[in-house]
Amino acid sequence: MAVSAFDVQRIRTDFPILNREVRPGILLAYLDSTATAQKPAVVVEAMDAFYQKYNANIHRGIHTLAEEATTAYEDARQKVAAFINAANAAEVIFTRNTTESINLVAYTWARQNLNSGDLVLLTEMEHHSNLIPWQILAAERDVRLEFVPVTEDGLLDLGVYRQLLGLSPKLVSFTQMSNVLGTVTPAVEIIRLAHDAGAVTLVDGAQSVPHLPVDVQALDVDFLAFSAHKMCGPTGIGALYGKRRLLESMPPFMGGGDMIKTVHLRSFVPNAIPHKFEAGTPAIAQAVGFGAAVDYLARIGMQTIKEHEHAITTYALERLEEIPGVRVIGPSCDLKGGVAAFTLDEIHPHDVAQILDTYGVAVRAGHHCAQPLHEKFGITATSRASFYLYNTTEEVDRMIDAVYKVKEMFA
Ligand code: PLP
Repeated sequence: MAVSAFDVQRIRTDFPILNREVRPGILLAYLDSTATAQKPAVVVEAMDAFYQKYNANIHRGIHTLAEEATTAYEDARQKVAAFINAANAAEVIFTRNTTESINLVAYTWARQNLNSGDLVLLTEMEHHSNLIPWQILAAERDVRLEFVPVTEDGLLDLGVYRQLLGLSPKLVSFTQMSNVLGTVTPAVEIIRLAHDAGAVTLVDGAQSVPHLPVDVQALDVDFLAFSAHKMCGPTGIGALYGKRRLLESMPPFMGGGDMIKTVHLRSFVPNAIPHKFEAGTPAIAQAVGFGAAVDYLARIGMQTIKEHEHAITTYALERLEEIPGVRVIGPSCDLKGGVAAFTLDEIHPHDVAQILDTYGVAVRAGHHCAQPLHEKFGITATSRASFYLYNTTEEVDRMIDAVYKVKEMFA
């Protein structure tokens, strides 16, 4: 069944891994892109070409290979900046992943600007990556943390949010798309209200940037964190977008080569942004792969990808809800991206995921690094299917058939 105008079968040919048999005769149905996305051949080839043809360290070399590698690395930054519509490529810092991007803000901007009694406002639907850095800061600096509650139907309670803004938080840090509920939060409104209250904003874009059109200038967000590996790129690289004014005012995160202008035995002058935040040899091949990934996604179009995922998710939710004993957490499909986290009777999600795997269906089970959110829903774990541009309704059908098999086995 065709779910949208774009040719998903054609897209699938870009991803060799999707032809993989998990065991003899059992084709992979990969429904775990929220954890990490599969990589199109163009990304792997771009990284391969780097290593085979122009591998060299960047910025310091005069020779041809060093110049080619530097150009490729900085081109990748330009591509990532254009992908999120940053005003300037210098506003994109390459990090290891979303987690490191958030920690970079916590260890630089926050430690420079937050002191005892200051408030950081988070939400109850945050991934641990957007909780722990603030908990560590709170313990160290006596900074207070408050949380925008999540409603029964998996949305942020904006009424309470407005009230909490009355406490004058210094920072509002929240996810643009929950990795469990799939909820797409009203980021434009949240950011506008935060700015009106005088707060700086950080968006965890780990799930939004891979799946939705994200425009940092339209959002007017101060910081945006995301990971390449969730958007068809390699592991080992992510990005932090920050407004130039903020990045320039922040101290370096780590010290070492490349992040300096001049060094003396007892002092140094930091480099300009973005290099100030990129100490040591960076993930060069991965940056090249990241650039190829955003080229690939941009060619297809983020709106097209979003629509395809919406169609698949709508279908998956309809089919899951047909099954007696299934409880899907999160809002209706019009308010969420391609995530379906569910419980099934009293069966442990790990058992569900393990049995689904015997049918080649890869889903994730556990708390998905959002333990407080699961607690909020009175559960310890869910099974989570998640969808991307290469998924099909046939794969959803295979998951549904396998869930029925799980029920039979536990009946
Ligand atoms: N935030 C959200 C919403 C996520 O889904 C994830 C990963 O699943 C992260 C942050 C952390 O991403 P990474 O492990 O790439 O740093």
